Amino acid sequence: MEPKDIIAQLSALKEQFESGLVQVTDEQAIRAHQAAFLGAKGAVTTLSRMIKDVPPEARPEVGRVFNAAKKEISAAVAAAIEQSRLAREQQDLTQHVDLTLPGRIPQGIGQLHPLTIVMYDIVDIFTAMGFDVATGPEIETDYYNFEALNFPPLHPARDMQDTLFIKEGHTLLRTHTSPVQIRTMLSRPLPIQIIAPGAVYRRDDDPTHSPMFVQIEGLLVDQGVSFGHLKGVLEAFLNEVFGEDVALRLRPSFFPFTEPSAEVDIQCISCRGSGCRLCSQTGWLEILGCGMVDPNVLEGVGIDPERYTGFAFGLGIDRIAMLRYEGITSIKLFYENDPRFLSCFTR
Ligand SMILES: [Zn+2]
Repeated sequence: MEPKDIIAQLSALKEQFESGLVQVTDEQAIRAHQAAFLGAKGAVTTLSRMIKDVPPEARPEVGRVFNAAKKEISAAVAAAIEQSRLAREQQDLTQHVDLTLPGRIPQGIGQLHPLTIVMYDIVDIFTAMGFDVATGPEIETDYYNFEALNFPPLHPARDMQDTLFIKEGHTLLRTHTSPVQIRTMLSRPLPIQIIAPGAVYRRDDDPTHSPMFVQIEGLLVDQGVSFGHLKGVLEAFLNEVFGEDVALRLRPSFFPFTEPSAEVDIQCISCRGSGCRLCSQTGWLEILGCGMVDPNVLEGVGIDPERYTGFAFGLGIDRIAMLRYEGITSIKLFYENDPRFLSCFTR
């Protein structure tokens, strides 16, 4: 092959390379373009293999031209890559990415559930009066939930509470927080002064009843405890929750584990006793159940009812929450956990 033919082909390839280079802008594409000419199977490399076919005296000159062309191509590639990097940097700078800005989707930091707020407030009131917080399991045995609380087998009082049994007559979801009374009296020394907040379960389901709800139980056992002490503690508690001058009344009632037993009403916080929709025109709101611990219950846990007496009370935290946050029409709002509802409450 004539040297001038090879050199003509080489300069044609160079032109081809140059016109192609202006069309690629990112580094990867530039490198691929370079490989198409200078790579092991590139067009320039392939052409250079023909140098051996030119007359020996012309080879050095042809070789020099090839080397010069390869250098030029490499230099053009390096310049193109540098330019591509500069262009990308310039683009990044004009985008003004501020990494300190918050994300586009707001992330809430979470807050206390309204029932937790009310529970904490109630616990604070009682701990200030010297009560300890006690807890117990939500899966209970018949013994702690019924038998030890003076509900003998087939006692009609068991029908008062629609129980969710796990194994009928054996294990169940506790229907009240009262089993904690028994567990505490069996495990702690006297005197006992505890409150027990927690979830309880019944077969109830309507706008004012949820199958799971939250109760708080109180128990005080010591020498010389009277119904007057019970009334004093409840008065102090209700005044703290509903305001200084709230009137209360006690109505005789029945619970298997207390004797005598009473229901406590407060004067309606909405109409102050004149009658409204909240209190069904009665002027009073049912708040809690209470009584003196039945001597049978004390005896059953090994406490001498001749020497010791005690009082107990229980109330629904949801009930207090519904009265405190007026306008909540269904107890279920507390358990559906819609963030729009929950975000309305702060402690
Ligand atoms: Zn009222």
